[in-house]
Amino acid sequence: MHDLVIHSGQIITAGGLEQADVAIDGEAIAAVGHRLEGRQRLDAAGCYVIPGGVDEHVHMQLPLAGRVSTDTFATGSIAAACGGTTTFIDFVTPNPAEPLLDALAARQAEADGHVAVDYALHMTIPSWHGAAAERLADVPAAFAAGCTTFKMYQAYDGMMLDDAALYRALCAVAAAGGSVVLHSETGPVLDLLRAEALAAGRTAPIEHERTRPARLEATAIARAAELAHLAACPLLIFHVGNAAAIDAITSARARGIDIWGESCPQYLLLTAEAHLGGPDGARFICAPPLRSQADQDAVWRALATGALEVVSTDHCPWTLAEKAQANFTQIPGGVPSIEARLALLHHAGVHEGRISLQRWIALCCTNPARRMGLARKGEIAPGFDADIVLFDPARAKTLSRRPGHETLHEAADWTPYEGMELKGWPRHVLLRGRQIVRDEAWVGSVADGRFVARGSA
Ligand SMILES: [Zn+2]
Repeated sequence: MHDLVIHSGQIITAGGLEQADVAIDGEAIAAVGHRLEGRQRLDAAGCYVIPGGVDEHVHMQLPLAGRVSTDTFATGSIAAACGGTTTFIDFVTPNPAEPLLDALAARQAEADGHVAVDYALHMTIPSWHGAAAERLADVPAAFAAGCTTFKMYQAYDGMMLDDAALYRALCAVAAAGGSVVLHSETGPVLDLLRAEALAAGRTAPIEHERTRPARLEATAIARAAELAHLAACPLLIFHVGNAAAIDAITSARARGIDIWGESCPQYLLLTAEAHLGGPDGARFICAPPLRSQADQDAVWRALATGALEVVSTDHCPWTLAEKAQANFTQIPGGVPSIEARLALLHHAGVHEGRISLQRWIALCCTNPARRMGLARKGEIAPGFDADIVLFDPARAKTLSRRPGHETLHEAADWTPYEGMELKGWPRHVLLRGRQIVRDEAWVGSVADGRFVARGSA
């Protein structure tokens, strides 16, 4: 007799489809099979039974240029729960001269007790640490503390590592057994192009895209790939949204390099045309930028074929007031989507015929868990955490943050997907065996989530 049995659902995993029951004991999945008996039962008839979503790239309460991104750990994780995401990975950003473990402890202290789902953290190596060998000596300790992935940038003042610093940091991470997640753009040239645009009076939001050429993104990826290969360090390229960047990843792989890529809903559902729609154009600014329809089509193809392996959100919300700036260089970058990610990919991917059900789960749950070293997440199989979503593929949902019509729990006062009518939405969500969403209502607590110490990929 198990604690809980989920009956009569269609289980969907990255490996296949199966009509079966799922039995849970304590916090873990105990069995998948037929005629399983439990003290409690949850009826999944008509629902897909899928692993809880894993969003490997989010920014809750991120301090940036005097502002803080709109979702706190609490509001963002409640939105994640309601959307069927049961694990997210945020970031530690050390201050100058701050030891990595001190920065990790400080970020954990901000999150612990304020998260509705489980979370993990990437460790950022900013410019000041990448240039300081004594701080790279902290990398093994950060790895041992469960921070096994290290975020680096090839752009942005204060964050950017030049090729030599990037190579040195890649070597330090590889020696510790970790992997690197990378914001890949040719930063110094972008800074020049942006300054030239401002000097010429070109300040509209579309200049954001025009001053960040896709091919300079691709050359940055190609350079980083070779440095990672030389350092023998696994490399993930974050937020890939154009054909040239995909080609750079694919050809690096063909040269035997351990490189992989993620994309995000904004690159699958929006294009740079969004910047041209009048005063609202500023809100869609994110980096790397939105691109053309042809690029969007290429990203969908890459997700279907395996050229890209993960869809995360890069959830980084700002209010409309914060987005309304006089010129494009002052607009804080990032858009929200942590709540709707699973459903957006189901609707635009599975329902509209671009990817299979199994691929949907691989991209949103299983691949990010495996590649991020989340050993107990992303699968429906005995021994894994009982993070399970009962997803109703027939449920209609209109996404909205309009006052009086809100269907989302994200804190920002807008969504890029306002008015979009989705087919399919999570009905029930379990976190380690406990129901935290019942009939689309959050019934958990912000004490439910835990920091997950990760291992190697
Ligand atoms: Zn990001």
